[in-house]
Amino acid sequence: MKRPVIGILALQGSVQEHRQALESVGSVEVLEVKTPSALALADGLILPGGESTTIAKLLCGFGLSDPLRERILKGMPVWGTCAGMILLAKEIVGEPAHLNVMDVTVRRNAYGRQIDSFSCVQSISAFSREPIPLVFIRAPWIEWAGEGVEVLCRVGGKIVAARQENMLATSFHPELTDNLCVHRYFAEMTQRAAMGTSLIQS
Ligand code: GLN
Repeated sequence: MKRPVIGILALQGSVQEHRQALESVGSVEVLEVKTPSALALADGLILPGGESTTIAKLLCGFGLSDPLRERILKGMPVWGTCAGMILLAKEIVGEPAHLNVMDVTVRRNAYGRQIDSFSCVQSISAFSREPIPLVFIRAPWIEWAGEGVEVLCRVGGKIVAARQENMLATSFHPELTDNLCVHRYFAEMTQRAAMGTSLIQS
C-alpha cells in the first residue's frame, strides 16, 4: 500500500519538530510544503505553530491561501497546532479570519504573554489512554465551537483540542514533546482519507 504523504507547511514555525515526530511515527512520507505544486502532492497537511498573522501573509504571498482553502473544503485532512489552529478558525476575536474553514471562534494569546507559557499533563481519550504532556506557548483557546465540532480536550474549562470532520486543531504543541500519539492520530486520519480517495478513483 502506498504510504500517505503528510505535508508540513514550511513558511514559518516548528517545521523540523513536526518532521521528526512524523518520521518517528513512520508509515508516512513527509513533505515540506511551500508551493501550490507541493501542496497538490500532499494527502494531509500540518499547519505548524508560529505567528499566525505572519504565516497568513506568507500563505498569500506564496499563492497558497486559495488552493489550501479549496483542498481543506474538499476534505483534505489538516491539523493546525497553535497558530495553525488560528489560521483554520472561522472567527478570531477582534481580528479578521484567515482560512475561515473551521466552525470555531478562537482567542489569540488567550493565556497572556510569552512569559505565561506553560505545560501540564492530561488525558485526551481520542489520542491515548495515558495522560500526555501539553505544551502551551502564547497559545490560543477555542472560545466557541459550532455543533459539528467535537471537543476533544478542555484545560481549565477552555477548549484546547477539537475536531470537525477532516480538521483537527490543538492549542498546544505535541511536536515539542516526546509523545507521538497526536501525530499518530493525524497519520491515521490521513491514511483513511487517502484510502477513501483511492477507492473512489479506482
Ligand atoms: N501567539 C501566536 C499567534 O497568535 C501563536 C503562538 C504559537 O503558535 N505558539 O499567532
